[in-house]
Amino acid sequence: MSEKKIKLGGKKKSIFMDKVKELLPDGGNLNLCLTCGACSSGCPATGIENMDPRKFLRMAALGMDDEITSTPWVWMCTMCQRCIYVCPMKIDIPQLVYNARASWPRETRPKGILGSCDMALKNESCSAMGTSPDDFTFVVEDVLEEYQEAQPEFKDMEAPIDKQGAEFFLNQNSREPVTEPDEMVPLWKILHLAGVNWTYGSKGWGGENYCMFLSDNDAWKHIVQTSTDMAHELGCKTFLNTE
Ligand code: SF4
Ligand code: SF4
Repeated sequence: MSEKKIKLGGKKKSIFMDKVKELLPDGGNLNLCLTCGACSSGCPATGIENMDPRKFLRMAALGMDDEITSTPWVWMCTMCQRCIYVCPMKIDIPQLVYNARASWPRETRPKGILGSCDMALKNESCSAMGTSPDDFTFVVEDVLEEYQEAQPEFKDMEAPIDKQGAEFFLNQNSREPVTEPDEMVPLWKILHLAGVNWTYGSKGWGGENYCMFLSDNDAWKHIVQTSTDMAHELGCKTFLNTE
């Protein structure tokens, strides 16, 4: 007569359970989630892929690691952090999402984010469009000259690159110099009228950071390091992140 073993009880091992615990305020535990749903009510990704942040957190708490690490919902989260803002316990759900993303083999992550991250690693601009420092400099100078001529009230406006000792270091969404260069100008005008001493860097000017969204720690660090190194090299005091 054959015996069939039935396993009773036993706690399911969950790496995500541990991560959630680490993230709760004041060394608390999962019971601190009040299941109030405030996170889900304001989340732009609620309902997509039949998921929402509260459900995601509960599944993590229940040790459903396979589901947590395979749901494509993690790529729908915008990392906006609205859920933390409204959560009475300040539970860092995007941190969970980040870790779930990181569990995906790199080559299986969404192509758009992956391609943009890899593009940003191609040169020192850190531009997801792959724009080189020379091309960025050319476009900025060209657009500036055009506006200085067309609008005499802005003839003294500047758009400096690598200005030593500037107070503010600005980055820039790299889509604009490539597809809509005029979109850069309103901010230049504001800074000019406010008398702000600012500069772009020829390195690390690309403001978007797809490597962060890709959950690629090394690449993310490289992008941030390139920007901040440039800001330090120029002696800037304030990093103005426009993204
Ligand atoms: S807002 Fe915070 S406490 Fe409320 S359900 Fe979401 S995670 Fe739990
Ligand atoms: S960070 Fe993600 S989970 Fe939180 S509200 Fe934004 S989209 Fe939703």
